[in-house]
Amino acid sequence: MTRIDLRSDTVTQPTQGMRRAMAEAIVGDDQYGEDPTVNRLQERVAELLAKEAALFVPSGTMANQTALKTLTRPGDDVIVSEEAHILLHESGASGANSGVQFTVAGKGGLFTLADFLNAYKAPGHVVLPPTTLVTIENTHNRGSGVVFPQDEIVSICAAAKARGVRSLCDGARLFNAATATGLSLSELSRPFDVVTLAFSKGLGCPVGSLVAGRAKDMKRAKRIRRMFGGAMRQSGILAAAGLYALDNHFARLGEDHANAKLIAERLADVRGVKLDLEKIQSNIVIFVLGEGLPDAEDVVARAKAEGVLLNVFGPRRVRAVTHLNVSREECVQAADILARVLEEK
Ligand SMILES: *Cc1c(COP(=O)(O)O)cnc(C)c1O
Repeated sequence: MTRIDLRSDTVTQPTQGMRRAMAEAIVGDDQYGEDPTVNRLQERVAELLAKEAALFVPSGTMANQTALKTLTRPGDDVIVSEEAHILLHESGASGANSGVQFTVAGKGGLFTLADFLNAYKAPGHVVLPPTTLVTIENTHNRGSGVVFPQDEIVSICAAAKARGVRSLCDGARLFNAATATGLSLSELSRPFDVVTLAFSKGLGCPVGSLVAGRAKDMKRAKRIRRMFGGAMRQSGILAAAGLYALDNHFARLGEDHANAKLIAERLADVRGVKLDLEKIQSNIVIFVLGEGLPDAEDVVARAKAEGVLLNVFGPRRVRAVTHLNVSREECVQAADILARVLEEK
């Protein structure tokens, strides 16, 4: 029976080569700084992002939460994009762990320098919470994998810096942003104080994220990682998957992007489907069910019955994500099945 899983790029299985690299990893106790494989991944990521240091953590959420706590104090205001992961997908962690509050800027995951300046609140005001951090999600999950324009990032981060506001890139899918733009990871990350990366998304690792930035910030982040329970021991087993993915899976992300595009183009032709093809720049396709079409729950259930798994992203919103465990042929098939499900109503 058909089973094409487009729910997320987190559903991938580690490849044979990755499993072998994990099994053969040389490890040590990372809390003594003695895991050579963790050290190698941290050094390699720091170099790729042109940051002084990087820290390996279990999840992307922990990476973001560690960065957030490193860069803020309770009561601070954080400027964030609409429906950002750190705002909406971390189970309330930002409020619980760091006691910050958010100001949403822009629409659809993107915002401009003008939006940033409009949202910014200077320190020293008796009423307004001081803005101490701006975060940018690149690519943007709920923005359908849209890439944040780099020139805008450069201006926003420069304006932030001029005001003493720190900057954080939620780069869970920065590998996809690099693939989509042709810019290097270091160029994408240069404007930011701190960048987080996830290896359990497009790179296909079972576990692992990193936080990268200045040595001084990463020293503080290391203590926070421990506070959050994310300091590990022989974690080189996991870091080995990351090193393997950098060598073997990063370069293939363009295939996922092409597959997402073909699904999006097929769906855009279906009457009632609202989908902005210009926003489909990476491996995520979010479409809105217009008038005359069933609700998202209904569409996802019907697609599932036909063997295509998707995620409900709102009452009228559905998400499909491509990844290394779905081939081009499967994506063509999934798009056909989806179009049929939608056209049958
Ligand atoms: C997936 C994701 C994360 C981290 O998620 P985990 O499931 O905790 O690894 C962070 N930011 C974005 C934008 C994501 O898509």
